[in-house]
Amino acid sequence: MTVTDLARWLDSNSTVLVQAVVEKLSQNEAQKAQVIETVASFFESLIESVRHGDSAALNDRLSRWVEGRSAPTEGELTRLVPVLISIKQVNAEQIRLLCEPAQAVDLLIALDVVYDRAINYLSQLESDALLADMRDQLQQAQQQLERLDKSKSDFIAVAAHELRTPITLVEGYANMVLDARPDLKQDEGAMALFEGMTSGVKRLREIIRDMLDVSLITLDMIELHAQPTWLNQIIDAASHSVESPLRERRMKLRIEHETIPKRATYADPERLVQVLNKILMNAIKYTPDGGEVIVQARELTGFVDVMVIDNGIGISPNDLSHIFGMFSTVGDASLHSSGKSKFRGGGPGLGLYISKGIIEAHGGNIWAESAGYDELNLPGSTFHIMIPMRNAPQGDNLSAIIMKTDKEVT
Ligand code: ADP
Repeated sequence: MTVTDLARWLDSNSTVLVQAVVEKLSQNEAQKAQVIETVASFFESLIESVRHGDSAALNDRLSRWVEGRSAPTEGELTRLVPVLISIKQVNAEQIRLLCEPAQAVDLLIALDVVYDRAINYLSQLESDALLADMRDQLQQAQQQLERLDKSKSDFIAVAAHELRTPITLVEGYANMVLDARPDLKQDEGAMALFEGMTSGVKRLREIIRDMLDVSLITLDMIELHAQPTWLNQIIDAASHSVESPLRERRMKLRIEHETIPKRATYADPERLVQVLNKILMNAIKYTPDGGEVIVQARELTGFVDVMVIDNGIGISPNDLSHIFGMFSTVGDASLHSSGKSKFRGGGPGLGLYISKGIIEAHGGNIWAESAGYDELNLPGSTFHIMIPMRNAPQGDNLSAIIMKTDKEVT
């Protein structure tokens, strides 16, 4: 038996073969009409390939199946290999039915080679196509996520800008009341009410600033004003900003000045104070009254690791990985409204997200360590802030991390 015999046999029995395949693959008359042409062209290509001893014609047909998903079955096709296997089975059945056993064996052996090659080829084509489909879907999902992220961030920026106007009005009217009624300044009760209002407005301003920072960080548009910066001064400035909560909570802050490098680095001092302030406020917030916070540093190659160590309630291993995410507050959200420095006060969960964004924009890194969460044994937490030590503004590299924006940040 030669391939020419096989080609001849297929050719002379092609009508029967097409009919048998169509019967097997279709469940109703309408489907039969749809698939008959595709099955007929498949056999044409098969015969041509067998006749010339070259898979090109058949491969071309299979490629068209994959490209147009035009294999001879109904509905949506995801897998074409099973269809080809069915055709092979029908073809083999017909050979067994129509031929003498000896001839059938020869034909089946020759046919096996042709179909196996075709099945391998189709399987490869299909895997490639499925992979490409999945890549497309992944890309679409990613684009959708990016759009969502952007609209979330746009919303935050718009909301923050809109909130500013009424706050300015409240501040303005409060001052006008005091101007119109100077006698109120002598009234302790009235002044206490005014102070309550002023501190509420101040807190609102801070929240709005945080919201704007979140949107700048999310959009990768944070602006750094790099200049020679001394970490000792940064840490001192941040420690002054937490003096009153430390006093209220009867806590101590120990700064190990000798561990902090004396030389300057190029960084944005205001942004670094902002980060240190947030990390120190958290250390205060998540440590019971009377606790202690230590700030120390160690020099590593190219970086300074500023550590803020507290002896507070600690962080569970599960939470360590996501406290730096947006709105990552751990625990009871009903605590949110309590005071800014109150023990376990809770906040909107933006502080660490902003800190991470600022430090990463500097080319640094920030992470936390803790033996776990335990309100009785107080394992404490250590926050590591890795700040790059730079002798000069980093030319291209630095400008790459400084992205200009016309958005107001304060
Ligand atoms: P917020 O304090 O507004 O909730 P942050 O982003 O500053 O938001 O902190 C996120 C979460 O990380 C906090 O809710 C808290 O659970 C945890 N956390 C941060 N700092 C500490 C700390 N020093 N000790 C224990 N938990 C902390």
